[in-house]
Amino acid sequence: MVKSFQYIYNDEHSLNQFIQEHGIDQYPSLLIQAFVGDSPLAVIKGLQRHINRILPRGTLIGCNSNGQVIGGSIVSEIVLSFTIFEVTVIESLLQERSGSSKQLGQQLTGVLGQSDTKAFIVFASHLHLGVQEFLEGVSERGDEIVIAGGVSSDLPDKRPTYVFTNDEITSEGFVTASLSGEELKIHSHSIEEWQEVGPVFTITKAKGNILGEINHVKPIRLLDTYLGERFVSALPDSSIEFPFLLRRENEKVAVYIMNVLPDGSVELSHGVTEGDTVSFGFVDVRDSIRSTTKLLSRLKRHPVETHFVYNCVARRRYIRDVTNQELSFFNQVSPLTGFFSYGELGGTGGKPKLMAHSLSYLGLSESVREPIRDMKIDFQLTPEADVMMSLTHLINTAEKDIKELTQNIQISEEYYRSLFDNNTDFVYSTDLNGRFNSLNPSFMKTFGYTREEILGKSALNFIREEDAVRVRRHFYRAMDGREQYYDLPIASKKGEVNFFQIKNIPITVDGKCVGIFGIGRNVTKERQFEKKITQLAYYDGETDLPNKMKFREIVDEHIQRAKKKKRQLAVLFLDMDRFKMINDTLGHFVGDVIIKELSQRIQGILPKGAYLGRFSGDKFTVLLTKEVNGTTISGITQDILETVQAPFSYQGKEFYISVSIGAGIYPQDGEETADLLRNADSALNWAKSKGGNNTVYFSRDMEEEITRKVEMEAHLRRAIEKQELFIAFQPIINIQSQSLIGCESLLRWQHPSWGLISPGEFIPLAEETGLIHDIGKWVLVESCIQLKEWIDRDAGKFYISVNVSARQFQHPTFLNDVEEALAISGLPAEYLCLELTETIMLHDASRTIDAMKSLADLGVKLAIDDFGTGYSSLSYLKHLPLHILKIDRSFVQNMSDHTPDVAIVQSISTMGKGLNMKVVAEGVETPGQLELLKQLGCDFAQGFLIERPMPLEKMNTFLTKMHLVTNLDI
Ligand code: C2E
Ligand code: CA
Ligand code: CA
Repeated sequence: MVKSFQYIYNDEHSLNQFIQEHGIDQYPSLLIQAFVGDSPLAVIKGLQRHINRILPRGTLIGCNSNGQVIGGSIVSEIVLSFTIFEVTVIESLLQERSGSSKQLGQQLTGVLGQSDTKAFIVFASHLHLGVQEFLEGVSERGDEIVIAGGVSSDLPDKRPTYVFTNDEITSEGFVTASLSGEELKIHSHSIEEWQEVGPVFTITKAKGNILGEINHVKPIRLLDTYLGERFVSALPDSSIEFPFLLRRENEKVAVYIMNVLPDGSVELSHGVTEGDTVSFGFVDVRDSIRSTTKLLSRLKRHPVETHFVYNCVARRRYIRDVTNQELSFFNQVSPLTGFFSYGELGGTGGKPKLMAHSLSYLGLSESVREPIRDMKIDFQLTPEADVMMSLTHLINTAEKDIKELTQNIQISEEYYRSLFDNNTDFVYSTDLNGRFNSLNPSFMKTFGYTREEILGKSALNFIREEDAVRVRRHFYRAMDGREQYYDLPIASKKGEVNFFQIKNIPITVDGKCVGIFGIGRNVTKERQFEKKITQLAYYDGETDLPNKMKFREIVDEHIQRAKKKKRQLAVLFLDMDRFKMINDTLGHFVGDVIIKELSQRIQGILPKGAYLGRFSGDKFTVLLTKEVNGTTISGITQDILETVQAPFSYQGKEFYISVSIGAGIYPQDGEETADLLRNADSALNWAKSKGGNNTVYFSRDMEEEITRKVEMEAHLRRAIEKQELFIAFQPIINIQSQSLIGCESLLRWQHPSWGLISPGEFIPLAEETGLIHDIGKWVLVESCIQLKEWIDRDAGKFYISVNVSARQFQHPTFLNDVEEALAISGLPAEYLCLELTETIMLHDASRTIDAMKSLADLGVKLAIDDFGTGYSSLSYLKHLPLHILKIDRSFVQNMSDHTPDVAIVQSISTMGKGLNMKVVAEGVETPGQLELLKQLGCDFAQGFLIERPMPLEKMNTFLTKMHLVTNLDI
């Protein structure tokens, strides 16, 4: 059995009495612990002498202390604890500091450590002795010896503190009592509950126990920042309140400051190395209570016979309530003694350690006791402790928040990092002077520079000089807070230039712009593609000229400007005359070559500020924007007409082409693009309808014509009644036999005051007004009657060819009109030929073909007139019931000039023959033409060379002279 007696020392006499009373001097194995408070050396020495006198066999260890524990309460007097053992052997050792503390520890084990040694009770005089190393030395042999104890501490006025045994005393050393014996049961425990608080720091300079720098600053400066002046000035003692928590192998070790060195570095209780991370530790009251309650519950079940606590002064100060109550609970188990220390020693053989803010507990028994039943462990906290708890809670929560925040910052920083590092776009930042201060890997990859070649340099060094002004402007706008986007060509280190789309955004910190972020993407391919698309969408592939869409945009744009500057613009529409025929007979390839050369020629003579566009096929447009007036326009249109007329040569042959021009002027002919273009286009149609190779101005020429038309229409209405119309006859001969084969009726209008009017002028008017039905019917009847008369009086046997306009032909009664004319005149149908133009095919082709078939069924001959000027191709003719094909006179007349017209005439006549049609060449004016036509295989001819269209009397005379055919063979 182990038994303890506790005694508050007053004087020698009463001590003698106490010892006698309890028979303490009877026991051979006696451990005496003396906790002497702040007693000076003389008092301690007196106590030593006294004890040695009355208890010569007792083993004494003692030390100065700051609060002594007796029977569960704290007193300031000297406390003596006597523990008697039945079988356990007690020995003691005082070790003065010499050499390394570790060696002292090794030495201790060597001297006191027996095979049955169960525990060492160790008191150290000062923290700065290297207590941790001492303990490491003790545990080195690997004995499972429990260590408990405490560090004495500085007394007021820097008086030294002492540790002592029976005979020795030192202010620089350790005293140890060893407890050995098989019967001894040890119950030990350490309560040290450190909670991490504040940021994690990295040790950046250290050597052994000397900590030189944390996070690159002197530790004292860091401590001053985080823990304040009071803490720093109270070092090293204050270190036990907030030690460093060193992270080592999944463990957090409390490391204390032992000494502050003059240069601001500190000496630590543990050795540290550079790269170690530390944070601050503080005690968590709740955890402390929890641990103590656990320990007490165990003691209740397995009570010890006696026990000691070496408790931290900081616990007494900061959690006094808890400390007081826990002491009284302990005392309910068995007599308790101990003292308040400045560092607690605890743990077993494997890992004894120096602790702080902790409780080192040692329970001893030599026999087993019954569990204690009537003991309540219920900590009652005073409001003061509650505040402490709340503060602890607050610190804990705040700490958690900070951790979370730091983690979030870390996460978002990682997000940002990966956005920066893994971006395939290059990303950079510059300072306010435009100098690079960060670059992502893609930047280096894109341009082939190393980081060092770029960092610190102005971004302007890497772009073309001509872009500098623009880039600077974007930079300043971005600094103003406006996001900037722009394209920029940038050369790589190797000189390869690419196009980049750059985005600049300001970097703002605390509402202030501190730099610019730039993000760039290579858009070379996209830009090239866009260019191609634009080219395709806006430009004509063959001539590279703006197409219809682009041209409209150009006109739009210039109208906006002209509006502001009150200027005139002119739009010209150009259309090649007879171009369709060139395409059909010579092939599209030749057509394309001609179009290309034509566009170049026109482009060549256009003045500055003029735009040429290709509207469609052989239709071009010109926009004149500079010095636009009547004179300049007519000068330019004249130039165009002339340059187009110059011969084209292809494969050694020459071609002639002409063009029709329609002109519209802004603003009088249209204030909007659409109006202006439409009007210029209708002017072009007028120009075409007037035979081509000329220019028509929208309003000027057209209006004149309109007034004239209105007037003419009124007169034309009465022309039939007034017998102002008459027919002129033009003979058609067989080229081979030179005999008369037919004659064409050509209408004439003899106006009393205007004179003879050409059908070219009034027929279109008659068509527009619908008068053509009456007029056409009249011509038909008159022509049939006349031929019947000639046949009847044997004046000739030939066919009569009557022109039928499209509108007339399409009239539902037309077939009827023809039948009527034949009936009235009695002319056999085969003597009548109807001349149709290609335009009749433009409307409802199937109905037209049906009508033609009905006419052919009557026996009437059908001719296609002015062939080659329209839009039909030769190939469709075979579907029509045609007998005669009349080559337009323009081909015949151009033939002499080695033009493509020879080829055209040749192919028309060949084709006509293949389709079993007679081919008539119109407008034959020279014997040469006639000769050529003969060679080309043309059947019939008509033209001034033979006879001009003649009034009736003249025709009668002609007929008398003419060699007449007896058989109508067409
Ligand atoms: P078209 O049917 O092509 O008529 C031939 C035109 O060529 C006539 O013009 C004729 O005078 C002219 N001509 C004949 N030989 C020569 C020549 O060697 N050299 C030149 N330079 N010209 C020649 P015209 O009489 O002025 O008639 C013009 C057009 O008016 C006709 O062209 C025809 O389309 C139309 N036309 C005439 N009479 C009628 C008619 O009764 N009804 C309809 N619907 N249209 C008619
Ligand atoms: Ca005709
Ligand atoms: Ca004709």
